[in-house]
Amino acid sequence: MIAENLARVRAQIAEAAARCGRCAEEVTLIAVSKTHGPEEVREAFAAGQVLFGENRVQEARAKAPLLPGELRWHLIGHLQSNKIRQALGVFERIQSVDTVELARDVNRVAGELGLFPKVFLEVNVAGEGSKFGFRPEALRAGMEELLSLDRVTVDGLMTIPPYASEPGDSRRYFAALRELRDGLAREFGAPLPELSMGMSGDFAVAVEEGATFVRVGTALFGERVGKTWKPS
Ligand SMILES: *Cc1c(COP(=O)(O)O)cnc(C)c1O
Repeated sequence: MIAENLARVRAQIAEAAARCGRCAEEVTLIAVSKTHGPEEVREAFAAGQVLFGENRVQEARAKAPLLPGELRWHLIGHLQSNKIRQALGVFERIQSVDTVELARDVNRVAGELGLFPKVFLEVNVAGEGSKFGFRPEALRAGMEELLSLDRVTVDGLMTIPPYASEPGDSRRYFAALRELRDGLAREFGAPLPELSMGMSGDFAVAVEEGATFVRVGTALFGERVGKTWKPS
């Protein structure tokens, strides 16, 4: 089941890439395994999926040791400062750095651990009140400091657009993230090559708008039940 879903999603990514003259290899699929147990992750891994996304540090820390060491993990949910050390222990990349203070703290802890992590900055492109993420103006204001951190490398942006009932409704937010990136690259001379955008409902649109990472959960693993997975 998961193998079939993976094959379908990968084919849809390739088709979307072809429609706009990109190669499928420019787009990395993140299998979002939050709430799902190690058996399902193992099934996806058996079908060739190596990169997984989780939104909670605790859940990933419980799951990862039960799975082969070749798996790689990205944090895609809000990170509290007191969990940075644990997060850097499991996640190859934090996609959800959402304030300058958090970036500073990640930089400090990375120094203590002897690490040089790459991170994405999460952007609240629509300016929704309830959401984590930099407002575009705040990001511009913080960019110089973010790029000057000695341990942390910022090489991309991530966004979660407002809920959309039609995939096409997300397009303008994906385009806005790409345009913001282009502007920052010009203003600050930082290439920011990676754009993490697109989920089960709209990843094809995100690929058309330049996504280099898409984060897909439900279309691979089915509907989520509950908010978290815990070892029994
Ligand atoms: C859960 C989640 C996803 C995956 O969502 P689906 O609609 O299940 O594909 C992607 N990105 C983030 C940040 C998430 O929290």
